[in-house]
Amino acid sequence: MRRPRLGLSGCLLHAGLRYDGRDVSNPSLNALAERFELITRCPEVGAGMPTPRPPIDWVGDRIMDRAAGIDWTPPLRAWIEATLAELGPIHGWILKRRSPSCGLGSAARYGVDGVARVDGIWAAALRARWPALPLIDEVGFAADEAAFERQVWAYALADQARPARSTGAEARPKQ
Ligand code: SF4
Repeated sequence: MRRPRLGLSGCLLHAGLRYDGRDVSNPSLNALAERFELITRCPEVGAGMPTPRPPIDWVGDRIMDRAAGIDWTPPLRAWIEATLAELGPIHGWILKRRSPSCGLGSAARYGVDGVARVDGIWAAALRARWPALPLIDEVGFAADEAAFERQVWAYALADQARPARSTGAEARPKQ
């Protein structure tokens, strides 16, 4: 079979994406390209945010630049809709911890009851679109890379065995 298609939050492989301009890329992740077809996406840059930029946060059910009072939810949701439509088959995703876009149960959400930890808007969209898709953040991945890689291969094998129309696998990935 062809290599599974593994997504990563863009800043884990590429500098120049994060809100604070900091390089958090991990060159060792490039070695995954020997076993997987790597796909990277940055929801915030994709939604039109500059780098560097003010931090954004979940405030209730909105993603806000709280300092400027800008609601980034509509452009983020538009990017998500377009990206899910063009992504093609996907078999796992490594997400950046704590990001309001990419965090996996680790994004801060401010509400009347204080701060809760929730999925980022992109992580939530991946879960909703593919409920069984293997997801992990970079910290969890570093703790047990082999276990996650096995999950991705198992998901890809199962995906290949399913009728294409049930998985969206018939869609050609945009390169
Ligand atoms: S955490 Fe996600 S939204 Fe933030 S810079 Fe990385 S890829 Fe972009």
